[in-house]
Amino acid sequence: MDCMNNRSNTLTQLADGSFDLLVIGGGIVGSGVARDAAMRGLRVGLVDQHDFAGGTSGRSSRLLHGGLRYLEQGRVFLVREASVEKKTIHRIAPHLAEPLGFIFPTYQGEGRPLWQLRIGVKLYDLLCSGRNFKPSRGLSQAETLKMLSSLRSEKLLGSVCYYDALTNDARLVIDSLRSASSNGAVISNYVRFHDSTRQDSHWHCRVEDCESGQEMTILARAIVNATGPWADQVPHSHVKLRLSKGIHIVIHRTRLPVPEAVVITEGKRILFVIPWGDRVIIGTTDTDYAGPPEAVDVDSADIQYVLRTVNEFFPSVAIQEKDIVSVWAGLRPLIANPDGSPSDISRAHQIRCPEPFWWDIAGGKLTTYRLMAEQAVDQIVTQLGVTAQKCRTAIEPLLSLKQINDYSGIKPAPLCRDAVEHFVNSEWAMHLDDILVRRSGWHYYDQLSLETIELVGNWMAEIKSWSQERTKAEIDASCSKIRHFVTP
Ligand SMILES: Cc1cc2nc3c(=O)[nH]c(=O)nc-3n(C[C@H](O)[C@H](O)[C@H](O)COP(=O)(O)OP(=O)(O)OC[C@H]3O[C@@H](n4cnc5c(N)ncnc54)[C@H](O)[C@@H]3O)c2cc1C
Repeated sequence: MDCMNNRSNTLTQLADGSFDLLVIGGGIVGSGVARDAAMRGLRVGLVDQHDFAGGTSGRSSRLLHGGLRYLEQGRVFLVREASVEKKTIHRIAPHLAEPLGFIFPTYQGEGRPLWQLRIGVKLYDLLCSGRNFKPSRGLSQAETLKMLSSLRSEKLLGSVCYYDALTNDARLVIDSLRSASSNGAVISNYVRFHDSTRQDSHWHCRVEDCESGQEMTILARAIVNATGPWADQVPHSHVKLRLSKGIHIVIHRTRLPVPEAVVITEGKRILFVIPWGDRVIIGTTDTDYAGPPEAVDVDSADIQYVLRTVNEFFPSVAIQEKDIVSVWAGLRPLIANPDGSPSDISRAHQIRCPEPFWWDIAGGKLTTYRLMAEQAVDQIVTQLGVTAQKCRTAIEPLLSLKQINDYSGIKPAPLCRDAVEHFVNSEWAMHLDDILVRRSGWHYYDQLSLETIELVGNWMAEIKSWSQERTKAEIDASCSKIRHFVTP
């Protein structure tokens, strides 16, 4: 079986079992740790308080990238690490890694000089062990405008084109969990970790099934705190975070027909215009955030900033609020550094063991999740003193041939009942928005009509045998959660 589709069975296994490792958090980092540890033969449990990928890992720019801008900051090691990992993910999960060209235009008297960009992208190729998806190249002014006819031409000097990849962040999480589950991990969403005490060489973890409100205890020899933006709120955690908010907007590609991704700048900041099927994703912002992580949202100032920046580069296109199909906001769980702007803070990750058998993993990027997991599980295996297999996550395909289907890819799955059945039975979908937002991505791709939300809600109701009241409550909740965007 792909994964445990019977929730009460899973909860019983969590409460009755004794695990080598309990992972708190089902974002990309927790999923990566669970997969790695399970593949090495550890008995693994994983819980998430909400839905998997409901935190930052379903709200990113969806890029597998070395991070060209970190080269400018001299963070060569960081770029090298992420560049190797982007190629690794492409190898193990080609369905979730689509190589993509990035055109980076430059203007006289503004931003980076062309010669600097040309050297930068060559170095970028080298940091990928000289084996980037395609070699970077320089483009003249005329070549740039031929590819991007609506780009501002005044003072345009030319551009460079370099290569990274586009992924589907939430699908990468779900497929990592499917892999972890098929390697024996016991996994549940909507289970919150409250606290734990150490007795008789085990953590006794107090968790709550958020669906029923019932508490239970999970026994585990070691714990990994992989709770992203929540990481400094978990008892025993020694993480200190600085949260930075980033938003994205999605528009129809006919409004801004770009053949490849485009890098646009606002002062030192970089924004991306990313083609995604018949849509274009534009983002992101980078602003300090002090509220509760679960309350992060897009506001009008964010949208105006993104529209202003994109319209400076594509003035004839003049994107407006009414063009927006969907939006999302996420929080970067950056390792705290009170100085400097959020954009200057390192995206390096941190793996710490502040007390025996407790690990905090924070920071990092979607792109480096596999490496973070490998490094953490190496430490855990050593401290537990177990004989475990070597890490195989860089070589073994993320999904087996049997698990590959039409429902996981970079673009949304086809809207059909079979897809809904698969998400419910094999991918832990509990609520309607688990399907509309994270499993399928339908919500981000289209402005879903009430009829479509009801159609999917009714399919889900049949599959899960919901009552009429429950079905209506799910449809109402989805309609309010996935509203277009907030205009205060
Ligand atoms: C705007 C933006 C753009 C980005 N773009 C990119 C990009 O293009 N490429 C890239 O490589 N990286 C990107 N990143 C960074 C990347 O998305 C993050 O580093 C990564 O997703 C963090 O994953 P995580 O698993 O640590 O956290 P999360 O995904 O937030 O997962 C943490 C999970 O822990 C759960 N949790 C919290 N508390 C508890 C509890 N008490 N009990 C149980 N569960 C709990 C939460 O519900 C959540 O699901 C971007 C980030 C942002 C914000």
